[in-house]
Amino acid sequence: MNPKMNIKVRFAPSPTGYSHVGGLRTALYNYLYARKHDGKLVLRIEDTDQSRWVEGAVENLIEALEWAGIEYDEGPELPGGERGEAGPYRQSDRLELYQQYTKQLLDEGHAYYCFCSEERLEKVRKQQQELNRRSMYDKHCRKLSKKERQNRLKAGMPHVVRMKIPEEDGTVSFTDEVREEVSIPYENLDDQVLIKSDGFPTYHLANVLDDHLMGITHVIRGEEWLPSTPKHILLYEYFDWDTPVFAHLPLLLNEDRSKLSKRQGDVAVGDYRDKGYLPEALINFVALLGWSPGDDQEILSMEEMIDKFTLDRINKSGAVFNLEKLQWMNGMYIRETDSKKLVNLALPYLQEAGFDVSDRHKITLIIDAVKDNIRYFAELPDLTEVFQPKPLKIDEEAEPELAEMLHKDSSKKVFSALADAFEKHDATSPRTTFFRL
Ligand code: GLU
Repeated sequence: MNPKMNIKVRFAPSPTGYSHVGGLRTALYNYLYARKHDGKLVLRIEDTDQSRWVEGAVENLIEALEWAGIEYDEGPELPGGERGEAGPYRQSDRLELYQQYTKQLLDEGHAYYCFCSEERLEKVRKQQQELNRRSMYDKHCRKLSKKERQNRLKAGMPHVVRMKIPEEDGTVSFTDEVREEVSIPYENLDDQVLIKSDGFPTYHLANVLDDHLMGITHVIRGEEWLPSTPKHILLYEYFDWDTPVFAHLPLLLNEDRSKLSKRQGDVAVGDYRDKGYLPEALINFVALLGWSPGDDQEILSMEEMIDKFTLDRINKSGAVFNLEKLQWMNGMYIRETDSKKLVNLALPYLQEAGFDVSDRHKITLIIDAVKDNIRYFAELPDLTEVFQPKPLKIDEEAEPELAEMLHKDSSKKVFSALADAFEKHDATSPRTTFFRL
């Protein structure tokens, strides 16, 4: 890599749901790469699919990044501002730009209008399926005469704009920093829709235009986008722009090696935050999902990760999300946390479980007593249950003699004296709590 190159990377989530651990890893790798090379990280919101837009998702994404300590240099800010010179950073605010560049592609013969109805496309798909062929647009409208096209446009017929994949034999080849040499024949590529019938661009067009216009030098993103990259490269060629460097990150997998999914456990960053995982621990864990520092060090601070991060240490094979390892790691971070901070973090969980937290000293002793066993704070109510005073319930009907004995003044005196003795010994002893009842 040219040492003088100004590195600029981006995290480009679509606000179609809440921030998940896969997105967090992508954001983190981009952040580490940017910091390591004194570059810049852009946050770009890819919100051109209006049908999948989820209320509150942008806020959730930004909050998750802040919580995790991933600072971006350019991008939208809450409540509604932004920082950086290459904005706007929400794609829905850039629609004119997409139209302008689409016109260029149409004028230069790299794209065409397509008027096919959903019904026609469905029919084509079915026919292809029956013949066991790859499902692709049959280029019907690519063959329309100029006159026919103009008539349809004049008549206001609904349409999309598609890119032209070259019809001759050939391949798109590129070197991916992770996957190495990738080569896809033109015949496997579809005439991709660039502008939808609602006038919004598809992901492919907006993503390529913005990466170029925002000066992105390295595209570091999930492997699910690898099959789209050849189309993106063709678009760069049509515009006569340099392509960025690509690095596609390995898939995240469940323990059974299926694609990581909600069905098998938590995937939302917020779930981990709410259960009481420390951001440093989650970040450390996520960093090792598909990357290794080159030695067997497993506990790494953000600074250490920045220092050690290189794209060539990213694995090709899928990374298994091992919850037990995350819990172990979180426990390690918890044990390293200073007592005062730990108590502050723990208090809400104890409070919610009905603990009286007014005596901070006592809570500190309790946390200290269970510290070695905490994996995440939501476990605290169970771990500390033994310290929780609970009224002693005697079934008076079933055990009348015991009830009578306990109600005697002499018994109360004995228990009270015992409680005092224990109190002097250790205020947080569960036995003390018991005898106070
Ligand atoms: N908007 C895409 C996503 O949600 C971004 C893919 C990319 O980084 O190019 O993952």
